Amino acid sequence: MKIVNTVNEVREQVKAWRKEGLTVGLVPTMGYLHEGHQSLIDRSVSENDRTVVSVFVNPMQFGPGEDLESYPRDMDRDAGICEKAGADLIFHPEPSEMYHDGFSTFVDMDTLTGGLCGKTRPIHFRGVCTVVSKLFHIVTPDRAYFGQKDAQQLAVIRHMAEDLSFGIEIVGCPIVREEDGLAKSSRNTYLNKEERKAALILSQSLQEGKKLLDAGERDAKKVRDAIVEKLRLEALAKIDYVEIVDWKNLEPVGQIDRQVLVAMAVYIGKTRLIDNILYEPE
Ligand code: AMP
Repeated sequence: MKIVNTVNEVREQVKAWRKEGLTVGLVPTMGYLHEGHQSLIDRSVSENDRTVVSVFVNPMQFGPGEDLESYPRDMDRDAGICEKAGADLIFHPEPSEMYHDGFSTFVDMDTLTGGLCGKTRPIHFRGVCTVVSKLFHIVTPDRAYFGQKDAQQLAVIRHMAEDLSFGIEIVGCPIVREEDGLAKSSRNTYLNKEERKAALILSQSLQEGKKLLDAGERDAKKVRDAIVEKLRLEALAKIDYVEIVDWKNLEPVGQIDRQVLVAMAVYIGKTRLIDNILYEPE
């Protein structure tokens, strides 16, 4: 496995693979890898001849006051995880390699990005779309792998790939959780012992919602209310949003009569965590 820092080195490597007729999968990450990321790498390794993992904490997707500086980083550990999982190349650029002086071209989306996380993080998806577009152009993969954990991001990237005719298959992968249900996240490292325990309320409240859905409740407000009520039982939790939206267009629904995304962002102390489930009525 090679680790490279420049766009040219990636291009050269991919060109050589293409000459041999090999297929390429891309797994974009911000590093500090865990089993969630690893599941994406595993899937890519199983479906492509070669796998590129990008490790880049993208400054453009962080707003003022967010955790860009404190975001956890450990390249040696990440390299070990990628190597073990069978990745072939890590692309680990400096911000200046991705954004030269005077960089001024952005990829923005009029739909899908205004609600859910886009409300609290208004510049986030512009940063995500711009960096993922660049990665798509640099790596030119056959397939790219994204986690359902960031459900809105997955929907946005799928839509962008279609709109901009990237010709790349976007593969969504299920959420990997800790044994007690907490969705794995690099940001979980911010939680102290007490907060780690409190963070369970995200998955537990989603399960509460799922119980109602499984029992046949189809009124989105009732399901949402039950989730919110459960979240309020945890003193350390502060709700950013809880929403039930159409999985196709991310618009809020009244009746659950199609596949929906039940999504939330909740602060546990200072740490903002997200979680979700997809639900499709019979
Ligand atoms: P990040 O490094 O947090 O930007 O995440 C990189 C990719 O890994 C994104 O596509 C995430 O959705 C995905 N990912 C992060 N956590 C998980 C998880 N617990 N399960 C599945 N995928 C995940």
